[in-house]
Amino acid sequence: MKKIVALLLAGTMAISLAACGSSSSSGEAAPAAEETEEAVEETEEAAEETEEAAEAEGPLADGVLTVGTNATFPPFEYLGDDGTPDGFDMALIKAIGEKIGVEVEIQDMEFSTLVQSIGTKIDIAIAGMTVTPERQETVDFSEPYYDAVQYVLLPVDSEIRTYEDLEGKKIAVQLGTTGNFIAEEIEGAELATYDKATDACNDLVNGRADCMIIDKNPAEVFQGKFSDKLVAVDGAQFSFEVENYAIAMPKGDTELAEKINGALQELKEDGTFDQLVEDYITNYSAE
Ligand code: GLN
Repeated sequence: MKKIVALLLAGTMAISLAACGSSSSSGEAAPAAEETEEAVEETEEAAEETEEAAEAEGPLADGVLTVGTNATFPPFEYLGDDGTPDGFDMALIKAIGEKIGVEVEIQDMEFSTLVQSIGTKIDIAIAGMTVTPERQETVDFSEPYYDAVQYVLLPVDSEIRTYEDLEGKKIAVQLGTTGNFIAEEIEGAELATYDKATDACNDLVNGRADCMIIDKNPAEVFQGKFSDKLVAVDGAQFSFEVENYAIAMPKGDTELAEKINGALQELKEDGTFDQLVEDYITNYSAE
């Protein structure tokens, strides 16, 4: 974006130079005409450059990849000790940024606004985001990088065991997530929706919901944090299907998609990806 403004300014300056040229040398017709011609050429060149810059605009052109996430989803994203987003996804996208030579800038926002913000507020999103056909109508996804399934978090004394047991229950979910979509399908369920997964969990712990539906890894982290109060049950027991996490990208930006997929592939081949899984997911410890 910065580049375009600079080039537009250059174009405008060329035009005003042309204007100055012709007025200051109004007596000598020939040189003034020449100068004007030159100035026009310069203006045209500047205009062409502006067009090129506009075409090359985007994360790869300005060197900054603006990445949206929602830092309430450990171990994939959470706020680190310094108050900035940390976690597996953050480490992964920074490693990808390094591979493709762009600076990564993280923006922490509500999960439910991520998909619609791609192409405006943010360039891409990484947020433990499941590939779904609905989201694919708006964005493209990278190659999947992690498998997940929804889990059911229950108070230790809960009698919920099967899908039917969920019917008519008060279910806490994070707004706009696959857990939210699954809960919507449950007969008679009353949904309590939250922008932050951490707030949904706190309400479950405080008895304001009968259960919570959330992805496996964060479910395990939350269970570990409140191990005397919560149990985490594998969604397979409720017939929930396997989901795949991928990076959400602007629709049709094949150049960006190729770079991101290429970097992801390289990180898998050189062992970095597995190392990040070990550091951030296997060895995650809630303080
Ligand atoms: N995987 C879930 C989804 O894509 C939840 C993601 C999240 O809450 N960050 O909807």
